[in-house]
Amino acid sequence: MNEEDAVQAVKDEKRSKSSHLSEDVAEKPVKPSATVGPSQMKPKKRRPRPVTICLDACRYEVLRNICKERRWRVVPETDEFSVFWSDLSVAPERLLQFKPYQRANHFVGMTEISRKDGLSKSLNRIAKKWPEEYTFYPQSWTLPIDLNDFRNTHRTLVHKRRLKPVYISKPTAGCQGNGIFLFKSENDIDPSQPQVVQRYIADPHLIDGYKYDLRIYLLVTSVEPLRMFIYKKGMARFATAPYVEPKDDNIKNSFMHLTNYSLNKRNKEGFVSNQDMDHDDEGSKRSLESVWRVLKSEGADVDQIWAQIKDIFIKTVVAIQPTLAHMYRSSLPNDRSGHACFELLGMDILLDSTHTPWLIEVNHSPSFNIDSPLDSDLKHSLIRDTIELLGVTPGDKARYMAEERRRFQERMMPGYSHRDAMRRMNSDEERARIERWEEDTLPRTQYEMIFPNERTEFYEQMMVEKGYSVIPAGRRLGITHRVLKAPTEGVLERTTQQLIQDARVRAEKELSLTERFDQLSKTKHVPTRPVGLKFDNTTVFRAGKTMTAPKNFVAVEQSRNRLVERSGIRSFISRMQGTESPRVVRTEGRPRAFLPYLEANKRMCRRRTGTAAGRPFFHRSLTPSTGRGLRTQPVLS
Ligand code: ADP
Repeated sequence: MNEEDAVQAVKDEKRSKSSHLSEDVAEKPVKPSATVGPSQMKPKKRRPRPVTICLDACRYEVLRNICKERRWRVVPETDEFSVFWSDLSVAPERLLQFKPYQRANHFVGMTEISRKDGLSKSLNRIAKKWPEEYTFYPQSWTLPIDLNDFRNTHRTLVHKRRLKPVYISKPTAGCQGNGIFLFKSENDIDPSQPQVVQRYIADPHLIDGYKYDLRIYLLVTSVEPLRMFIYKKGMARFATAPYVEPKDDNIKNSFMHLTNYSLNKRNKEGFVSNQDMDHDDEGSKRSLESVWRVLKSEGADVDQIWAQIKDIFIKTVVAIQPTLAHMYRSSLPNDRSGHACFELLGMDILLDSTHTPWLIEVNHSPSFNIDSPLDSDLKHSLIRDTIELLGVTPGDKARYMAEERRRFQERMMPGYSHRDAMRRMNSDEERARIERWEEDTLPRTQYEMIFPNERTEFYEQMMVEKGYSVIPAGRRLGITHRVLKAPTEGVLERTTQQLIQDARVRAEKELSLTERFDQLSKTKHVPTRPVGLKFDNTTVFRAGKTMTAPKNFVAVEQSRNRLVERSGIRSFISRMQGTESPRVVRTEGRPRAFLPYLEANKRMCRRRTGTAAGRPFFHRSLTPSTGRGLRTQPVLS
């Protein structure tokens, strides 16, 4: 059979198949519509579409199980989803693309407390303003920045107070106890390595002679206004070697001093797995309730400890609330509910021998691994209650679509007022609906609301404390990290003022440099005549039409360009548009040209030449090394 015959044969086969199909369809008995009586003509009840959740970046089986239980549909990232649950933090660029009914399990900016260096910096910063309130975090230094401070404090303790302090060193972004060690002398660490050094709590509360820490969960459902819930159930993770105060012979024993479950599991001699739910006070992982029982038996006031823990959690999040709120507004400008993100934090607490709780760590992605009945019980109910409290319903998308339709129709009506519509749109309706849901659902869960509370006003003072607000997470949006000192009202206002002030200083510096450069150029071979411009990336120096550069034109343009460049606005916009950063092309012996911008400039110039507003924006720089004189480089202003 030649090629043509083969093609024909395939076609024939296909045709015969499709005719079979059509025959099948034709033979299917069709329900006679006339037989359907009025009683049977009830409108078909539409089954609500299930909630969709994306778990592509989530490795925990427990989440999949709970979704199955609730009949939620797990969809890939490429499909439309209502909930995005990830083990990794969510980038602001991703949130920017979210629709108002979609929700993500992370807030942008939470790394300010979930990374060890972030936590240390954030709490140290606010502790300077509120020293009496922030005593729950062991004294910490972020090296190498705080090296001098660490050395001075250490020397004072040793020489003046005759103490023998012990410290714990942690890699800035580590986890599961990796890279952590105890030390006594400042010579025991490499100060050039990024690390957090912390006073070691050498007198922890012991149960059965073992050190332990508590894992308690905190759910943040909104950052502006702040809404937080603590989970009443939790667990205690135990060290696997009996505790002895740190001495030279045991200081390196991680199984004695660290309570990480993943680490202690490796201790074949000491690790005890608990497979019996009825004995939650045995083994290397125990329930929180079992710890409360022990504490009660020792005469401790458990309610008081619980209240202290709640206060610690509130203050920890309050320390970065302005950052979180700022980042939320920047990455979700169209969100009206304030509930597009939520975060389930794993908070690690250590009790000392006087039952005083200390904050050790904040995990933005706590482990939901299950390897014992206790784990299974805790994590299933935790996730179930979290999902319940979030109030995600199949109707969310439909409600959003209906609202959009209504708004569209409203715009078509005569007498439509945009201002009124905006006012209505920004009403707290959606926010109030979710908050009502949270409050109604709360009794059905193991959650307890800890913020807002009766001391809300007091905590709110800390949120707007002078000179502490920061926009560090702005680094990801291309904004520089800085601590603000300016006083007065809102965080944003202070941020802007500080940025303007900085910009002024920088512009002045750059101006003086350019002036010096101008002088140099006069004496050397760099021509200072006004340059004619033609939009041809290979012949930019050839005069077409002559433009006279005003005095200081070069300096002002240069400094403006630098400011735009440093602010990161350009790259941020490119990322938002999904375009690549401009390709830098070097033509033979010719200046660099940013091709996409060159095109944009060309178009703009063609459209609006001659007018002041239409004058394209050039970046010129002097190049004494090549002796080529003024370079003209079009950029996007
Ligand atoms: P990782 O994220 O690697 O688990 P952590 O900061 O939680 O790091 O520290 C690991 C363990 O070290 C904790 O579970 C706790 O037992 C112990 N630890 C950490 N900091 C201190 C401290 N300041 N004092 C006493 N023990 C500490």
